[in-house]
Amino acid sequence: MDQRVERTVKALKRHGFSAEFVAGKEEAAKLILSRIPVSAKVGIPGSKTIRQMGLDRALRERGLITFDHWVPGMSAEELLKTRKAQLACELLLTSANAITEKGEIFNMDGVGNRIAPTIFGPDRVIFVVGVNKLVPDLAAARVRVQKVAAPKRAAELEIDVPCVKTGECNDCNSPKRICRAELVLHRAPGLSKIEVYIVGEELGN
Ligand code: SF4
Repeated sequence: MDQRVERTVKALKRHGFSAEFVAGKEEAAKLILSRIPVSAKVGIPGSKTIRQMGLDRALRERGLITFDHWVPGMSAEELLKTRKAQLACELLLTSANAITEKGEIFNMDGVGNRIAPTIFGPDRVIFVVGVNKLVPDLAAARVRVQKVAAPKRAAELEIDVPCVKTGECNDCNSPKRICRAELVLHRAPGLSKIEVYIVGEELGN
């Protein structure tokens, strides 16, 4: 574990989060799966990291009930129902746009189903975050979203917003804007049980 990771893990723990470092994504996936009971109903909001680690597929193969709105072929009604189910699932499996070395969890969202249940709702929230998302502080977290996470995600979805072309955020007023709600978990919220797994590989946007 390098010093940056060590500082981040310690700071997260000081702030009431459970936090640990796992070197590789396969090892991390095994560990996380071993800690999810087969009876759990798991919400999986928009997270490339969770899909890259194969956690969504692994849970389905084990027969767990998942609320995953990235499963193809859903109607608009099913998509909405699935997003709402994520708000009150037993366990939320997600990622963050950035984790600061000061021990804060930063997320930007377009709809809100990714950030809302990380404050209150599920019995447990698991964040899985690649080392590429560690930043010194909140200012750097915002810059990371504006210059890396949002332009990459918008490009993947072929959404026509200015940052896709320029790589810079101009605080756009596009109807397609994907940055609409920002959440910082400064400390673990009072009634939430939050676990953070920092994985020693590049994951997500
Ligand atoms: S606010 Fe608009 S331009 Fe800025 S990063 Fe988000 S989508 Fe891109």
